[in-house]
This record gives sequence, structure tokens and C-alpha cells, in this order.
Amino acid sequence: MFGNMGVILRIDLTKGSFTREDSAPYLKQYLGGRGLNHILLFRDTDVARIDAFDPENEIIFSSGPLGGTTWPSSGRCQATFIAPLAYSGWGDSNVGGSVGPEIKFAGYDAIVISGRSERPAYVTVQDESVDIKPADDLWGKGLTATSSILHRRYPGSQTLLIGPAGENRVRFANVRTHRTDMLGRCGAGAVMGSKNLKGLVIKGSTGVRIFDPDKFLKLSLQVQKELMDPNFGLIHGMTYKMLSAYGTPGITRLIGQTGMTPIQNWNQCGWWSEDGELTQDLIDRWGIKRDSCFGCPIHCHGSYRVDDARYPSVGGGPEYETTNALGHKCLEHRAKIVLKLNEMCNDLGLDTVESGNMFAALMEWHEKGIIDEKFTDGVSMGWGNGEGMMELLPKIATRSGCGDVLAEGPYRVGKKLGNEALKYVFHYKGMGATGVDTRATIGTMLQFAVSPRGAHHLTGIPTAEWVNVPALALHTGGFLEAGDIRSYHPEAKARLVKYYENLFELPDSMGTCKFPWGHTGFWHDSPEDLEKMWDYFCEGLLYATGIHYSKEELMEIGERAYQIERAVIVLRGITRNDDMPNWRSLHESCPGEHPVGPNPLPPIDKKKYSKVLDKYYELRGWTREGVPTRRRLQELGLGEIADRLEREGVLAASEERTAL
Ligand code: SF4
Repeated sequence: MFGNMGVILRIDLTKGSFTREDSAPYLKQYLGGRGLNHILLFRDTDVARIDAFDPENEIIFSSGPLGGTTWPSSGRCQATFIAPLAYSGWGDSNVGGSVGPEIKFAGYDAIVISGRSERPAYVTVQDESVDIKPADDLWGKGLTATSSILHRRYPGSQTLLIGPAGENRVRFANVRTHRTDMLGRCGAGAVMGSKNLKGLVIKGSTGVRIFDPDKFLKLSLQVQKELMDPNFGLIHGMTYKMLSAYGTPGITRLIGQTGMTPIQNWNQCGWWSEDGELTQDLIDRWGIKRDSCFGCPIHCHGSYRVDDARYPSVGGGPEYETTNALGHKCLEHRAKIVLKLNEMCNDLGLDTVESGNMFAALMEWHEKGIIDEKFTDGVSMGWGNGEGMMELLPKIATRSGCGDVLAEGPYRVGKKLGNEALKYVFHYKGMGATGVDTRATIGTMLQFAVSPRGAHHLTGIPTAEWVNVPALALHTGGFLEAGDIRSYHPEAKARLVKYYENLFELPDSMGTCKFPWGHTGFWHDSPEDLEKMWDYFCEGLLYATGIHYSKEELMEIGERAYQIERAVIVLRGITRNDDMPNWRSLHESCPGEHPVGPNPLPPIDKKKYSKVLDKYYELRGWTREGVPTRRRLQELGLGEIADRLEREGVLAASEERTAL
């Protein structure tokens, strides 16, 4: 076994036992990481029915064949589970730091956690030794304290931990690694909490065996050099310079140019005259150092310190998504407040994006008279009330007072308040959107709406649409219109989104980061550069594993994982309606300051969008209802998925309706 470790570790918290399983039968077809997790979850559980908090639900952590090697950015860890946040129920999340490599150093490709411990517990995995230990002394503690206790107890280990929010099953609770890297979205922390699992402590002493170490190291160094070369290409070089100096806050103004940055709960978009420090200026003023995940030359991470008498804070990041969610979306322009909120979320174990979305929705409901301060225990949630957000965050994490309702997330709270309130929740499939206005770009609109886990860019945001290099638009979407953010060209947009969705599965399956491998401007100056990226994938995997994968085979592996996600959400009741634009995108235009495109941004044209969706379904090999067809599933070697869809009556019913 080269590249991968050959073993899956299964831990059953109900029985208090563990077993090991051979991972080899899965690897050629699924690579590892995300692909491996998906097929395991599908086979192990009743994915059509289980609730996120059932003991039968699993949470699976894994790396991939390039994880923990010299390959640049090989420090990622993938988690897959049935999720409590999106009503589609699909949950996957990816985190950096060093925990992914440590899973491999302990000898495993994946760790599968099932069952529920009777008492609060944490699990230690040290090579072959696995222990379930009581966590009564840690339960209720914040993440910073928990992390330092466990790292004193187990020096040199890596951890995956939850805070009070996870313990209390807040639907947007996250999981934190040793630093402040987060499995941020979908509610992974709540799934761990439902299992009474405070955390995992992992330490390994083995290395990753590489098939051809000399060639692999030489290639790794060459790739690293090119990633860091500011003159490799204009877009590639600019991406490196911006990410290494500022991390994601560096993109705030850049993406605002097209109107994509949401402001005031998606009531405005683009540039915000008051954002002041909520851009890369924040790093200049408060940043203290740049940092990196395992083996990554890009060091897009940072840390900050605010020495302020009233709002002192320290922490990792922040990310654009955090400053946008807690700042722009809530009209809170004071950076030191936003950084304090970030520190609080990172200690309580709350997703900053959904926390910001929750507050932004409360502020709009408050403005429109749908709620008053009684709803929020006397806190008046007017726009920009950062102090109010500070008051509510601990209540949410502990589900105390109004926090018990708010812990359900904006979609469920909006639903409870009624249709008028729900209109102002900018979500897809029940998960609030990340920092993008889907009215601004049609390909991105499609990608957000069909994303199995709900509104999120990391499922396959079409980078070629954002950079708009004509030759790349042709190369990835087949038509020049693929690169025009306002175009509704059905085939161009459908091909483009499918391309990036399949591509984005691969870094997550290999154990590497998406930033240098498809998600940002790296390799996006020309088709030749993009093909070079694919060649590196193929060569890297060949030298690491000894297995030759062609680009086409890799695309199929990506598609396989994506089709499993779709099959699961369809089994759980997702239909075409759930792939349509949300209310605000369909019914309201959006004013804003941005130099590119119309102002205000018009609503999404439903008829034209429907044609894009039809074409997307067709290219995916799905029925007009969005159900994967037996033919396409069998072509991908996924006959067992088709059988399950058929057994549940989903496949036959959909194919019949389409024929009519
Ligand atoms: S690009 Fe950033 S997030 Fe990705 S591995 Fe490197 S440091 Fe981590």
C-alpha cells in the first residue's frame, strides 16, 4: 500500500469497542478522503431516514493518498455525516491544520465514529492503541481551555474538539483542531455532541509510504516553486501574493467589484463605504503573523491580536467569510467587535457564517416588525448591534433563554415565525449562504442552489466564471458565455458548474487543499496552465500510489462522489423545487456600489434559470426531476446506488414523471 495507509478504524461509542477494516477495496474507485467517506456512509447507514442526532449516524474523518506527504497543501482532513443544519441532511466539511496527516501517521485512512457514549467521553488514538476516556471534567468547557488541557495531557498530538455549542446540539456547531482551524459548516460539532463525544486526540508515529519517493519529492518541490512564483501568470501570481500576505480578507474588495459581496442581509451588495477595517486593512492593523497548514507554501492563515481595553481579543484568521457574516451582513463595521465575535465563536464552537446569518436575519425581522426585543430576551437587534450579538452568542451556545430557539439556525427560526420571516433568510436547502450574492453570477447561482449540503461555494464554485479569461471559459464551459457572469447560456453554465463540482471533489479526496487546486486563481491564466494542474494531479498520484489515473478517470472519481451526495439528498426528499433560487434572489433587485454590471442587480429570471437547470440535469445524467438515472449510475459503477433509489421508489417514480 502506497500513499494510503490501507486501514479504516471504526469506533463504536455505544459498545465502547473498535475494529479495523481493509480500505484497499475502495481506493481505486474513490481515491480516499471525501470519496471514501461518502461510500462508507452510504453503505453503513440508512441514509434515507436517519436523523443527524441518531446514534446510528456516523461522522467519518479522513485524509487521502497525498495527505501527510511533501505534496504542497497536504494537511487537510475531510468529515462526512448526516447533517443537522441543511434540511437536505447532507453534511460534509473540510479542515486544515495538521490533523489529517496525523490520522495517517497513526496508520489510518479514515476514522469512522458511530453510536453514542453513555457519558461524556473523548477518544484517544495512538497508533494501534484506541481508548475511550471519560470527559466529565471537560464537558461545558470552552474550546481554548479544552484544547490546552488535552495538549498538556497528550503533547505532540492533534485534536478534533467541540465546545459548548456542540455539546448542546446547536445546529451550526463546529469542530476545532489544535489551532483555530474549523470544520465550520453543516453542524459537525452538534453530531459529535449528540454522541457525547467531546473530542478525538490523535498521535501517530508512522510515515506515509511513497511508491517512487525520489520522483515524488522532485515533483512536490517543482509544484511548490510554481505555486509561489509571482510571475507564473498574472492571475496565478496575484492569487499567491494576495493569499500569502492577507489570506481571504484580501479578496473582500476584489469580489465586491462585481456585486458579489452581500451586505445588510443581502439587501445591498458590492462595496460598502463603511467597511473600513473589514478588508485587508484589518490584517495590516491587527494581524500579528502569517501561518500555514501542514506542508503548505501559501500560508493563507493568519493570527491577530487586538489590544483594546474594552474588547481585547486574540485568535486565528479571520477569514473573509467571518468578517462578511458578522460584519457586512449585519452592518457592523467595527473591526475590533467583529474580531471579538470571532474569538467568542471560536471558543464556544459556533460556525461564524451561520452565526452571522442568524443575526442578520434577526436584524431584518426586527426592522420589519416581525419580532421585537422580547423575542431576543430584551436585546434590541437593530442593524450593527455588535454588543447585542456578543450578548446572544453564549445564550445560543448553551441554549439558554432565547438561545434555545436561535440554536436552530435562521432557516428553522424563520419557518417557525412564518412565511414573511422566511423570505428574508438567504438560504439554500436550509443552510444559510456564505458571502456571495447569487444574483450577481448565474453559474454561481446554479452551484449554490444545487449544492447538496446547502448554500456554499466550496461544493464547486466555477472559478473560470469569476476570472473571466475567454480561453478558459471555452475550455471549461465550452462557450465564451461561461465566463460572462450575467449570461444564462444553459449549456455554458451547466457544463461549467459540472466541471468544477467534479474537480472540487478531488482535493478533498486526495487530502489536499482546494485553494491551490481549483478554487482560486492558481492555474487560471490559460487552458494550458489548467491542464498543467491536471497533469500534476496525475503525476503526483502516480508517484505517491503507484497507480496511474488519467484526467478522465479522476473526473469520474469526482463525479462518483458527487452522485452519491445527490442520491442521498434525493432519498431524503429533495426535489427540483429545492434547486431553485431563494425568494430574495427571485423577487428583489439588489442595489449596491460596484463598477462591474448593472446597479441594482436584477432578480434572477426564473424562466431562464429553469432552462439552465434543465441542461444541468441532462449533463449530469439526471431526470428532469433531478434524480440520478440508473444508466449514468451504472456507467460510474454505482449500480448499488441505483438499486437503493429503485427500492425506495424514487428512481421509478421520477423516470415515469419525466417520461410524461
Ligand atoms: S492554502 Fe491556506 S487553507 Fe489551504 S492548505 Fe494552505 S494555508 Fe491551509
